[in-house]
Amino acid sequence: MKIGFIGLGNMGAPMAANLAKAGHEVAGFDVAGTTAEGVTSVGSAAEVAQGKDVVITMLPNGDILRAVASDIIPEMDKGAVLLDCSTVDVASARAVAGLCEQAELGFLDAPVSGGIGGAAGGTLTFMVGGTQAALDKAMPLFDIMGQKAVHCGDAGNGQAAKICNNMILGVTMVATCEAFALADKLGLSREAMFDVVSTSSGYSWTMNAYCPAPGVGPQSPADNDYQPGFAAALMLKDMRLSQQAAEAADADTPMGKVACEEYRTFVEDEDGGARDFSAMLPRLAAKSRT
Ligand code: NAD
Repeated sequence: MKIGFIGLGNMGAPMAANLAKAGHEVAGFDVAGTTAEGVTSVGSAAEVAQGKDVVITMLPNGDILRAVASDIIPEMDKGAVLLDCSTVDVASARAVAGLCEQAELGFLDAPVSGGIGGAAGGTLTFMVGGTQAALDKAMPLFDIMGQKAVHCGDAGNGQAAKICNNMILGVTMVATCEAFALADKLGLSREAMFDVVSTSSGYSWTMNAYCPAPGVGPQSPADNDYQPGFAAALMLKDMRLSQQAAEAADADTPMGKVACEEYRTFVEDEDGGARDFSAMLPRLAAKSRT
């Protein structure tokens, strides 16, 4: 396939390189001038979009997606698919889907989970919103860039699934960390805490697979001085997207709201932005009750 790739950052560059390695003809563009192995660099997003079967975007946020979409949609061939893999707000995904429909283009929102390691290893999971026809066209590309693509429904539903998942993740990490911090103060060892909770009703992915306590449970960023992993700043972005969506949909998300404020304080008022989001544990362990 002829593929255009816009946004060759930490995630986009390895994803584009994997498509090129699998034999697709890939042209790429990034405002920062970054490139990817096997990908032909071109001078603008509009040029990347011309004559392609699929144009993939992997960008920082919904405003940038909307701006790039308005540049590239007029350049794309009718019947081509715009495949956005960025994590953006549901409203932006649906707005770009509408523009694509008017222009007789396919559109898929397909945010990912799996992080930089998953992008490099081709093991991402895609949460996909959009039509079955567009999905059928993009499926061979999902097979190269990832291990799983779940069709979640119409356009925007991929983003909805992603932020609901990450709201659970963000809330659960805060809950796991505050329980460890309480256990410390009650004189319970972290090993005993892990052994009990990981096999009891309080178990979770954050406890069992990504334990925030160093030296306990499987290897995790806690064992590497909380180097990300998944940076607290990225978790804050996703928590904010969940709260923005909750507001737009008039959904009550009390735990999401409190957890979002915890990450905001950690990232914006403290030193947490570049640390893994599980560094919420040393943060809470150092605090007193307010
Ligand atoms: P990044 O900042 O490394 O990459 C984004 C790239 O987009 C940058 O290289 C930037 O120069 C480029 N860009 C910005 N504006 C542009 C424009 N107008 N035209 C062309 N290029 C432009 O970010 P990333 O870590 O690669 O993340 C990309 C997306 O994937 C984000 O939406 C993020 O939330 C999501 N995501 C990231 C991770 C992760 O672990 N890094 C995991 C899951 C999802």
